[in-house]
Amino acid sequence: MEKEKSQAKQLKEKLFMDKKHGMLQISDEEAVKADVFCDGYKDFLNRAKTEREAVTYAVRAAQAHGFTEYDRTKTYQAGDRVYVVNRHKAVMLAVIGKNGTKNGVRLGIAHIDSPRLDLKPNPLYESNDLALFKTHYYGGIKKYQWPTVPLALHGVVAMKDGSVIDVCIGEEEGDPCLVVTDLLPHLAVEQMSQVMTKAFTGEHLNVLVGSRPFNRDEESENVKLHILHILFEKYGMTEEDFLSADLTMVPAFKAKDVGLDRSMIGSYGHDDRVCAYPALMAAMDVKAPESTVITVLTDREEIGSDGNTGMKSTYLADFIADLAQADGMALRHVMAKSTCLSADVNAAFDPTYASAFEANNSCYLNKGAVITKYTGSGGKYSTSDASAEYMAQIRNLLDKNAVLWQTGELGKVDGGGGGTIAKFVANWNADVVDLGVPVLSMHAPFEIVSKLDVYATYRALYVFYAD
Ligand code: MN
Ligand code: MN
Repeated sequence: MEKEKSQAKQLKEKLFMDKKHGMLQISDEEAVKADVFCDGYKDFLNRAKTEREAVTYAVRAAQAHGFTEYDRTKTYQAGDRVYVVNRHKAVMLAVIGKNGTKNGVRLGIAHIDSPRLDLKPNPLYESNDLALFKTHYYGGIKKYQWPTVPLALHGVVAMKDGSVIDVCIGEEEGDPCLVVTDLLPHLAVEQMSQVMTKAFTGEHLNVLVGSRPFNRDEESENVKLHILHILFEKYGMTEEDFLSADLTMVPAFKAKDVGLDRSMIGSYGHDDRVCAYPALMAAMDVKAPESTVITVLTDREEIGSDGNTGMKSTYLADFIADLAQADGMALRHVMAKSTCLSADVNAAFDPTYASAFEANNSCYLNKGAVITKYTGSGGKYSTSDASAEYMAQIRNLLDKNAVLWQTGELGKVDGGGGGTIAKFVANWNADVVDLGVPVLSMHAPFEIVSKLDVYATYRALYVFYAD
């Protein structure tokens, strides 16, 4: 009996897939490395709340690591490091490989835009002696989560004379914050009986920006005038200058350790900075790879990748075409041999909302980087589906390098769905699969990730680049 049991146990070990808690799979040393890596990540989160700020951070890091701006008239050697910025909102970082583009390129692509409240083109108004901003939300948000959260104003105002003014209010100690109001429970009988999509609409997301008049003249709209005067004094802008601005409201708080054991990080914008930072660090650390490695921090993913800085734009393919031409290659031949990790998050299993998930095919906090074979919705609509062969190649790579990893689908089959940039890369006839960090409360103002998973995602991208 005893012997039979042990045989079964042995066979189980051989045949069953066993994805244990990450702490049971790695050394204490590795866990410490993960914590240290995440200190850098938290700094990035606090400095890069918008795509423009993430690009600025990435370019600074790249320059400090020997990257120079790409010049297509120059000849590059293996180990050379170049970057290209697209309209301040997306950046590509390439490390030239020994074989250049001849055997395809290795792509790591993460996005640096996150759900938020953009200001409308004509945002400022006064009502009942209060000044407010009208907003237009960007990306998929649950609107009820945004009222009563301290918000900061980030972005740029482009002036007619060609100058561009950086705006950031609410991040420095002592800065004021802005906020969307909500109705008190005492008077919310009607609101609370409504379905959520009716109770909180886009037109409810008005940001309170002021309440005192400019002076004691009995002029109309004196509170609005006061706010415009403050903006004029600080930035030299007038109301019409809002028309040529990219201004957005993001949560004003900083990234924080979560849990009494400090095992997690809570922050705005983990999706997808939690993959962008590991991809950027992997790009900094890779030396002279076999094939050229290209890391892309892209914009516009949260709204479907449309626009000249999103992955439906030709900007990445055009860059690869330039690199290919230098090697005497055609873009299509490079693409056909290229491989990509689409570095994006997946929804971590949440025991409080267990019914939204299918436990056998969900990803979990602390089990490592999650490989998502396909996303989409319904009958696998709107998704690429990584081939069995490419999945085998990636899991072999990760196992060989002792990277913590797991797989996951996005929730229950008919529970909803979502997508990443993977399908656009697949449409260029490259091999691609999603790999990234499991997230709790995804798209909320304060999202949660595990430190082990962030570090595992860095390691996955690094070995993919260096292999
Ligand atoms: Mn994402
Ligand atoms: Mn997202």
